[in-house]
Amino acid sequence: MSINKHNIDTDGRLVVLGGGESGAGAAVLGKAKGMDVFLSDMGTIPEKYKALLDSHSIPYEEGSHTPEKILNASVVVKSPGIPPYAPMVKAIEEMGIPVLSEIEFAAGFTDSKMVCITGSNGKTTTTLLTYHILRKAGLDVGLAGNVGKSLALQVAEDPHQIYVIELSSFQLENMYKFKANIAVIMNITPDHMDRYDHKMENYVAAKFRILQNQTKDDYFVYWQDDPIIRAQIAQVQSEALHLPFGMDRQEDSAAYVEDGIVRFATPGDVWEIPRDRLSLPGLHNLYNSMAAGISASVLKIKKENIREALENFEAVEHRLEYVATIDGVRYVNDSKATNVNSTWYALESMNTPVVLILGGKDKGNDYSEIEELVKKKVKAIVCMGLHNEKLLEFFNGKVDSIADTHTLDDAIAACRKLACEGDTVLLSPCCASFDLFKSYEDRGDRFKEAVRNLSPADNK
Ligand code: ADP
Repeated sequence: MSINKHNIDTDGRLVVLGGGESGAGAAVLGKAKGMDVFLSDMGTIPEKYKALLDSHSIPYEEGSHTPEKILNASVVVKSPGIPPYAPMVKAIEEMGIPVLSEIEFAAGFTDSKMVCITGSNGKTTTTLLTYHILRKAGLDVGLAGNVGKSLALQVAEDPHQIYVIELSSFQLENMYKFKANIAVIMNITPDHMDRYDHKMENYVAAKFRILQNQTKDDYFVYWQDDPIIRAQIAQVQSEALHLPFGMDRQEDSAAYVEDGIVRFATPGDVWEIPRDRLSLPGLHNLYNSMAAGISASVLKIKKENIREALENFEAVEHRLEYVATIDGVRYVNDSKATNVNSTWYALESMNTPVVLILGGKDKGNDYSEIEELVKKKVKAIVCMGLHNEKLLEFFNGKVDSIADTHTLDDAIAACRKLACEGDTVLLSPCCASFDLFKSYEDRGDRFKEAVRNLSPADNK
């Protein structure tokens, strides 16, 4: 029997649940390590991943889970999209078979450095920004987790010395021995409450798993003004060096703003960059830039390189992405804002009157968080969803106009009527997209296409 550093028996049987990016990658890595591998997906497996599995002679099934082929596993890797209460997951756990996330599984086969980013909002931006800085500085770095390629596939076929990994709370749920050399928590606000029994403490605990196994040689980067993070820190043991960031200088701040200058102070390194030189706009992106800058700094990247990378990073698609100006109205695609807090930051960064497109699949939202900003900056709300009742009820009387639409075309038509020259039409829906769209990317792409097809002054 040969056991790897995460206690996985490489002579054993690996069953992978879910045939997406992470599952297919885990299957390939298991096979490369000599395991007996089987992949099972309740839905359909995208062609691209079937081809990958076929090319490695890995057997799979789709459309059902066959218990006899699954419950004989020595270890199971579960896609983060499959909830822990799914019947097959329960059955596996009842058999005492360990259930791991793809990141946990993959990390057992590598000693590369791990820079891991979690939080309710800003994960993707901070991950891509950090990756951008490290790559520009010439490091051998891979991008993994929710963005980028499967970590397992990279470990198997295209290994790197450092990985920058975006970790969702879903992935963290099935991580046990994994250690982040740098762990970043951007913020914690209610999200996915439906998956966490509507208990905030469960969600917070999942996020804080990013700190487990860290030692005094590791780093913990976090937003110092987040009351939930602060409260949780007081309760967990973490030996890692704490590197908080925020607007104001505090005793232990590793990044803060003073007179329009962002100052960084990490062990052995002090440097700065004018805030207006950061390429990404808005308060939230200031925080994202701070987190990425601190992480790069502790990896001993030269400050000139970090500064340059923070200045020339290009905006990430579907995150406050400028689309077009038509008849003097700016259209901005923030389709990735799938919770209330991200819409708060989107609104915070607006400098013109806003026509705000809200709606979609509500994940237990509390809209009072954006009420003040809506009153201050939003002249009209266009609800775009199958069920707009909750939004209509909450915002009725709080803005000058509110439109009730159920398709993208109708929503855009309503925006055309409501927006005047100098306004911004902002798609920042607070909600998931699955009622009318395949994904937030699909929602953003179709929004952009519809906006780009508008002719000046039609409909007016
Ligand atoms: P995530 O990957 O965590 O969903 P993204 O980087 O994709 O985060 O950003 C999603 C949305 O969240 C953006 O459109 C923006 O409106 C908002 N956002 C980005 N960074 C932050 C942050 N640090 N704090 C709060 N909101 C943010």
